[in-house]
Formats: sequence, structure tokens, C-alpha cells
Amino acid sequence: MIYLEQNAEIYNNDIRAMLQAFFDNEKVMLTKEGTRLSLKVEYTSDSDVETQVEGGGYVTYHLQDEEGYYASKTVVVDYQNKKLARNPLKAALYRMLSDYTGKELPWGSMTGVRPTKVATECLENGKKEEEIRHLYTDTYLTIPQKADICIEVAKREQELFKDFSYDEEYCIYIGIPFCPSRCLYCSFTSYPIAQYAHKVEDYLRALYKEMEFVAAADVYKNKRLVAIYIGGGTPSALTAEQLRALITQLQTVFDMQYVREFCVECGRPDSITMDKLRVLKELGVERISINPQTMSDETLHLIGRAHTVEQTRIAFIMAREAGFDNINMDMIVGLPGEDIKDVHHTLSEIRSMKPDSLTVHSLAIKRAANLNIEMERYQGLIKGSTNEMLLAVDSCARELTMVPYYLYRQKNIPGKLENVGYAVEGKECVYNILIMEEKLDILGMGAGSSSKFIFRKENRIERVENVKNVDEYINRIDEMIERKRKMFATI
Ligand code: SF4
Repeated sequence: MIYLEQNAEIYNNDIRAMLQAFFDNEKVMLTKEGTRLSLKVEYTSDSDVETQVEGGGYVTYHLQDEEGYYASKTVVVDYQNKKLARNPLKAALYRMLSDYTGKELPWGSMTGVRPTKVATECLENGKKEEEIRHLYTDTYLTIPQKADICIEVAKREQELFKDFSYDEEYCIYIGIPFCPSRCLYCSFTSYPIAQYAHKVEDYLRALYKEMEFVAAADVYKNKRLVAIYIGGGTPSALTAEQLRALITQLQTVFDMQYVREFCVECGRPDSITMDKLRVLKELGVERISINPQTMSDETLHLIGRAHTVEQTRIAFIMAREAGFDNINMDMIVGLPGEDIKDVHHTLSEIRSMKPDSLTVHSLAIKRAANLNIEMERYQGLIKGSTNEMLLAVDSCARELTMVPYYLYRQKNIPGKLENVGYAVEGKECVYNILIMEEKLDILGMGAGSSSKFIFRKENRIERVENVKNVDEYINRIDEMIERKRKMFATI
């Protein structure tokens, strides 16, 4: 536990994020009791010093541990001016913590900002790549590889969105909250299909009601539906007939003529059958995702995925036979019990299957996941994701002629590493970028879904959430619709 003392709260979030980046979510306390390390931050106003910058003053960090280590660092800066002072203050704290721990973080002092946003804004402002690279490595202290991948992703995004008209288009997300079993790390809305099979028809009926309401909404009548993502959960946990009914209903109520992308998650190989794949293909689904996560049976068993490596191979072959030429695979690095050797093994299997896109996630330990709830049991097995693992994925993806097209970091990833989507040109999933970039309205339907409304002129985003619980969703469907109706009235 770390004791934090400050005489002002002006950079509280940044300081906490930096401590958590170095000390992997160790608790930051406001009391000294039981803490092993203390950080004191003193903001001194300009009237107290002679060397002040105009309107500012200076900030001193004092770092001390119970074994007698002590260091201090002073940054002369107009700390009231957050825009100018934030980065130098974070960089100074980063260096101090790096000296103390002996660790260098691949993302340097970059916290609280979407990594690619910096590159996107610079490109929009006409900055040269070399200048942008320096901004990452000198201001945010990232390693050069992170600067390069951000620039690459930002350029790819610009290319992918050049034909979009944000004010005239929207996309939809449909949540199917059922899976063959619950994975250890899962924090999504997911119910085991075997126990919930008798609720599926009621669920779909409620979902159709919500879909009909959204499709008929006046505010979206003049906008074009351009991307559809059916996720969850695992939509392919439904039967072939249920999938057919769902997609037919979707095509009946929504105008499909402008849809550029239609994706369905078939994440769990143990949910995939030839019948289901044929239905998806016949009804126009273009991209599916078959997710190995790892190609180790031992790890699959440990993380509760209840399928085998062989099932992944067979599902992939079936999907190709069914005619899918846009198949994504998700993998996770840092899974319990896995090290770099396991990652190389998974990658060699993926390489032999040759998917069209590959999405790598660094294991995140989310509050609602069983992994977090039963942490004591798994603690010794979690070695965490490392940059070496991500580099191995990067080189495998490039061998498969893929390039990175979206990248984001999450709070709960030990080491604060990133998730990256790679794809062969033309096989990217634009919806994945849209969730991060907040360019188009996303209308979410189904339990656990969230809708996002972009008020571009006012520079604000509003969200409308659906309940997560399946029974509540079925019973309170009119209320879910009412929530959307209220939001639609403000657009
Ligand atoms: S397949 Fe995905 S949604 Fe289903 S339990 Fe596993 S992680 Fe959760």
C-alpha cells in the first residue's frame, strides 16, 4: 500500500494513475498506517519563491520508503495551467518512480489519454511523422515502438473513415448474453446457455420489440445504418433457427441498403456448427470472430472455456468451408500460467490457420470477473502480459500481412499494456474503432448494451444503458424503450 499526501488535488488522477502503472494497482491510501511507500506532493505558489514562472510556482515530489530510501524532485512550472504543466509534471514523477523501481514502462508517462488520439490530432494538424514520434518519446517518454504503432494506427483510421459522413450515419449493436460457459476473466453480461435455454425465446421477443422501436424512430429515419455488430456473450450460442429468426427480424425492421459491415461474434468454438455458419453466410454476415484466446488445452481448462484447441481448429476450417473470407481471431496474452513460450505456441497455431484479422488483448482483471473474485486462487499463476509478448504478436500479424488498425489501453491491465487489432487490408472491423473513437451514434439493443449519442456541435456524448440481467431485461423491456425514447426526444 502506498501513502499519498498532497496539499492540493489538482493532479490527483494523474498521480494515482502513475503510481498504479508502476505498482500494478496497489492501493493508494490517505493514511500512513500499513503503507510501505509514501509520496508527498507539495504545490507551492509563486509568492513563496524567487524562481517562479508567471502565475505558477513549483511542485516538489518527495518519495520515501520504509527502508530509508528518500528522493525529492522539484519542477518549476505554472501548475495552475494544466494544459502546459500536466505533461512535465507527469514526466518528472515518471522518472522518479522509474529510478526507484528500476522499471521503464513502454507507455512512459502516458496515462489518461487514448494513445492514438495524440497521433490523430497531430496528423489532422499537419504535423510530420518525425515530429509526432518525438512528441511521444520526449513528452510522454514512450518507447519508440509505441510511438510508431500509434502513428500507424492513426493513419489507418484516417484512411478507413475518409468516406464516412458522421452526421448522417449510425451503427447498431445487438447483445446476445448467452455463452456455453463463463470464462474466468469475463466481465461481460453472459449466462450459461444450458441453464438459460428456456429463456432465450422470451429474450428474443423482448429484443425484437426494442429493435422495432429503434428502427422506427424518426430521428434515425434520415440517417443511414452503416455497421451492425452482434456480440454478447456469444451469439452463436443460439441455435441455427434462432440465429435465422434474429437476423431475418433485423433485416425486416432496419433498412440494410447502406450497411458496409455486418459482424457476428462466434467467439466460442464450442458453439459453432456448420448449420449456424451456413445461416450466417446465407443471411449476409461478412465478418465473424472465432476466438482461441490460447492454443493450450491446459490453459483453456484453467480459464473455464470448456472447449479444446482441436475444436478451434475445426471451427475455423468449417467457417472457411462455409465461405467466410473475413475471420477474426482474438487471443489474450498474460493468461494464468502462461509465459512467452505459450504465446509463441499460440501464435504458431494461428499462423498456420491464417485468419484475416487478429486481435490481441492483454489480460485485464476486471472487478466483476471470477478471476478477480477468486484472485487468491490464481495469484501465483498470473505472471502478467509483457511487451515482449505483444511484440511477438505484432511480428506474427505482420507475417500474415496484417497491419494494426485500432489500439486502446484499459485501466485494469497489469503493466498497463495495450489491446491491438490487426487486419489484412480491407478486413478491418470499423465498428471496433467506432467504440473507441466516438464518431458515430451507436444504438445498443439487448441486455447489457449501451447506446452512445454524439452531440458533435456541443462536444458532448450521452449514454443510455440497458439493464444487464436477462430476466430484468425481459420484464422491463418497456422501460428500456422509454429510456431511449427520452434520449431520442433530445436529438
Ligand atoms: S465467451 Fe466471451 S462473453 Fe462468453 S463468457 Fe467467455 S469472455 Fe464472457
